[in-house]
Amino acid sequence: MKAFYTNHFVLPLPLGHRFPMEKYSRLHSLVSVLPEVELVEAPSASDTQILYAHDPAYVIKVLKGNLSPKEQREIGFPWSEKMVERSRRSSGATIAAAKTALTEGIAANLAGGTHHAYRDQGSGFCVFNDSAIAARALQKEINPKLQIAVIDLDVHQGNGTASILKNDSSIFTLSIHGKNNFPFTKEQSDLDIDLADGCNDQNYLNVLEESLDTLDKRFSADFIIYLAGADPHEDDRLGRLKLSKDGIQKRDEMVFQYAIEHQMPLAFSMAGGYGKNIESTVEIHFQTIKSALKFQIQY
Ligand SMILES: [Zn+2]
Repeated sequence: MKAFYTNHFVLPLPLGHRFPMEKYSRLHSLVSVLPEVELVEAPSASDTQILYAHDPAYVIKVLKGNLSPKEQREIGFPWSEKMVERSRRSSGATIAAAKTALTEGIAANLAGGTHHAYRDQGSGFCVFNDSAIAARALQKEINPKLQIAVIDLDVHQGNGTASILKNDSSIFTLSIHGKNNFPFTKEQSDLDIDLADGCNDQNYLNVLEESLDTLDKRFSADFIIYLAGADPHEDDRLGRLKLSKDGIQKRDEMVFQYAIEHQMPLAFSMAGGYGKNIESTVEIHFQTIKSALKFQIQY
């Protein structure tokens, strides 16, 4: 299985910044010992590809460093050339994983899942919306008839993705998230499930099963983009849910199984994870990669 990485494009962040940049290099080291995974440096998304999902005026502001202080605060990162490079690579990784999955079944982005980025503004550590960009890239560069489902199981709503794709009937957006989590004003996905604080494994897995059934009834997908956020975990600082590591493994397997049963290729990204202990977040992302390997051999 190919896994596209971006961890050597590090964002220069002020000391004590709450974004866990380090998790990506730690995950890369763990994955590098798996013989079944081929690590590939993420290509850069081109301007044209970024524009599949973003407003030209916003893209120009990001590229030229003309974001206002308020816009930078909303993103949560200070602007730098390296921020631009990393954001391009992160979207490029999801595009590359998606194109690879078309022939190989499953492929991974070891970062990505920047689902809070809107068409014309960044937010919540997200500059460009890799899922929306990659979905459109498949349609514009490979096959205009592809119907794509974005299954977003990060604990925060995929508000940017929902907003960018709201009038696009060829891409179905499903988001299962904490009701009381950021973003506090939610957008409308094609299917949204708001979970109460403290949701446990069993409730979560029941809701996921029902949601996949609903997706199946309402949409005929050819391809899945999966955001496998680690932040529904019980030890997450931001998540508010109570999923165990084992529960998250079952969640991942349910999505991979769904893809296999429908013979759909799947590209996945890591999305969020803000464990009190960074090791637990990295372990959950690593677990997702290992689960994907079990399914990749079935394609
Ligand atoms: Zn999140």
